[in-house]
Amino acid sequence: MVQRVVILGGSFGGLHVTHALLKKRNKDLKVILVSKNSHFFWNIASVRAIVPGQIKDEDILRPIAPALARYPSSSYEFLIGEATGADFASNTVTIALKDGITSTVPYDHLVLATGANYDSEVPTPWKASNSYDEILSLLHSTATAASQANHITVAGAGATGVEVAGELAYEWGNTKQIVLLSGSSTVLGNDIAGPAAANELKKLNVTIKYNARAVSSKKLDSGKTEVTLENGETITTDLYLPTTGMSPNTSYIPAEYLLGNKTVDVDEFLRVKNTTNVWAVGDVVSKPRAGFMITQKQAASAAKNIELALQSKQPVPAKGLPVDILACAVGRGRGAGRMGSIKLPSFGVWLAKGKTLGMPMAAGYIDGSVA
Ligand SMILES: Cc1cc2nc3c(=O)[nH]c(=O)nc-3n(C[C@H](O)[C@H](O)[C@H](O)COP(=O)(O)OP(=O)(O)OC[C@H]3O[C@@H](n4cnc5c(N)ncnc54)[C@H](O)[C@@H]3O)c2cc1C
Repeated sequence: MVQRVVILGGSFGGLHVTHALLKKRNKDLKVILVSKNSHFFWNIASVRAIVPGQIKDEDILRPIAPALARYPSSSYEFLIGEATGADFASNTVTIALKDGITSTVPYDHLVLATGANYDSEVPTPWKASNSYDEILSLLHSTATAASQANHITVAGAGATGVEVAGELAYEWGNTKQIVLLSGSSTVLGNDIAGPAAANELKKLNVTIKYNARAVSSKKLDSGKTEVTLENGETITTDLYLPTTGMSPNTSYIPAEYLLGNKTVDVDEFLRVKNTTNVWAVGDVVSKPRAGFMITQKQAASAAKNIELALQSKQPVPAKGLPVDILACAVGRGRGAGRMGSIKLPSFGVWLAKGKTLGMPMAAGYIDGSVA
């Protein structure tokens, strides 16, 4: 009998599991990929795509359907829709499709790969949070606003905030004021790469404001934005770009399967605890941390465990990365990072990440050759 594997989320994690399963050409398996967007978003390069002329639309957003077309049409379905509910007892998920149509989709195995998003009152293009048209439009409007602004405030000095400030300052550090707000007295939290990142940002004329946690923002009649900090101070800026408040996209999952931080609670096999056939990978798990290379490893493990389960075999513990790597581009010429506890030179980070922001790798992710 044909077994149905439903995969929620068409990004790094979900697409990888989809390809890994379909490549096996198991005729007793049907994969149903559900994605909010028709395209795969190489969000790693979103920080550079907000500088006009740097990244082509068709390179950063690539259609998913042609990448699946090489598999027999009977082996998969690709649904554009949003999971709005899940019932792990009855093995069904509720999917909101286009035009207000809702479908209840049954599964034998379910993969949760709906990632995480920045939870801020100002929409930002750092994640594939909406439809293809909406992501593209947000990238374009942010790029236009950045080119027109004289003063830009980036909130959050984590990796995304550092990269956003670096890209803006590489292009406009001598002509616009770029301010980076850090909620603490460091950049990149307590990571050992933090001081090097701060140093690189200063070279590009970024003003780093420490202990300056943004708590709210409001659009003024003038079109500017007023950002209020925790200490009551306000900053008036032409463009406000928050990079804070990463939150997993798990609102459709029953609360008993989530941890306090709303990530999915999984065991060593990446199986959702207290289930037998629900698996989770990537930023919905965010363990050991959110990262696409970690996601990729987890996706490979989840796909393997699903195959084992289909053969009535026991799952195997998920494999992690041999070493944790943090690489932070700081503009188009420099970077800061570490491999494990060893700091990496700026040039090395630039070569490995900052030069292209991984764009040449995107083709392999979409066509499944990495899976
Ligand atoms: C600017 C930036 C740079 C980064 N650089 C690096 C890096 O250098 N190295 C690294 O390892 N990591 C990096 N990351 C982290 C990396 O982007 C994430 O770890 C990766 O995107 C996780 O992939 P995912 O598939 O788990 O989820 P996501 O990429 O978050 O994708 C989730 C998908 O699910 C969809 N979705 C959401 N809710 C639903 C729903 N209810 N129903 C159906 N679909 C849904 C979304 O639209 C999206 O397509 C970076 C992140 C950012 C923001």
